[in-house]
Amino acid sequence: MKFENKFNLPEEFTAIIDAHTRRYDKGKSDYSVTQLIDSPRVVHLREKNKKKIVADYSDMIAATTGSSFHHILEESNETVKHFIAEKRFFQPVMGIILSGAADIYNKKTKIIGDYKTCSVWQHGKLKDEWIQQLNILAWLASREGYKVKGLKIFKIFKDWKKSMVERSESYPKCQLEVSDVELWDLKDTEEFIKQRINLHEDVRKGKEYMCTEEDTWYSGDSWAIKKKGGKKAVRILHVEPKEVEEGYEVEFRKGVHKRCEDYCSVSQFCDQYQNRKSWD
Ligand code: SF4
Repeated sequence: MKFENKFNLPEEFTAIIDAHTRRYDKGKSDYSVTQLIDSPRVVHLREKNKKKIVADYSDMIAATTGSSFHHILEESNETVKHFIAEKRFFQPVMGIILSGAADIYNKKTKIIGDYKTCSVWQHGKLKDEWIQQLNILAWLASREGYKVKGLKIFKIFKDWKKSMVERSESYPKCQLEVSDVELWDLKDTEEFIKQRINLHEDVRKGKEYMCTEEDTWYSGDSWAIKKKGGKKAVRILHVEPKEVEEGYEVEFRKGVHKRCEDYCSVSQFCDQYQNRKSWD
C-alpha cells in the first residue's frame, strides 16, 4: 500500500504509520482470521490491487493508535509469566494455511482475550465478527494443544467521558468493559471455517461475490422526528411513521453504505460500489 499525505503530517508521525503497516504480517499463510471473516470481495480486490492501493496517512491514525496498545501488551509477556501475548497460530485446513494471532492467552484461566478500541456506542454489545474471530482463534489454539475454556473481549471506549457517568444511567461506569463471548463447539467452528474457505477460494478462482449490506455497513433508511423548524432529531425511526405529533415533522434520511463511502480501501476498483454510485 502506498500513502499520500494530504494534510502534510510530520515525519515524526508518518514514520509511526509506516512502521505499523510493515508490522502487520499474516506470516506464511494463505488467509488470516481477519481476512477469512471479511467479505471475499474486499479481500480479493485488495490482493489483486495491492500495488495500486493508495491511502492517506490521516486515515491511519485511529488504526495506528489502537494497535500501539498491542506493543505494550507484548511487554506483559515478560512481566506476567502466565500470559502469552500476540501469539500467532498456523493450521492447514483444506489445503490452505490459516493463521491468526491471539492478543492474549491466560495460561491459568485458559481464556483467550482480545482488546478492541471502540466507541461508547458499543457498550453492552458484541459484534458478530468479534465472536467469529475469537472462536476461530480458539479452534487454532486448540489444534496447537492449548486448552481454551473461555473467550473475552476487552473493550476500551476511546470516546468515554467521566463527566457523562453521572448524567446517564445507561452510560458505562468505566472506560474498560469486559464481555464474555460464547465459546462454540470446536466441530461447529471447523465447519464454519471450511464454509468461509470455500467462499473465499471460489472468489479467488473467479466466482463473483457481491458484498452484503452487512459487509458494506449499510445503515438502512431512517426517518428523523424533529421539532418543526428544529435541526436536531429527537428520535430516529427505521420504519416510516404513519403520523407524528402536533409540532413535529419527519425528515427522510437515505441509508448509507458507510464502509464503501468512507472506509473501504478498494472502493475505487469495485464495480458494485461504482455502479451503485452512478445509480444514486
Ligand atoms: S466498496 Fe463496498 S461493495 Fe465494494 S468491496 Fe468495498 S465494501 Fe464491498
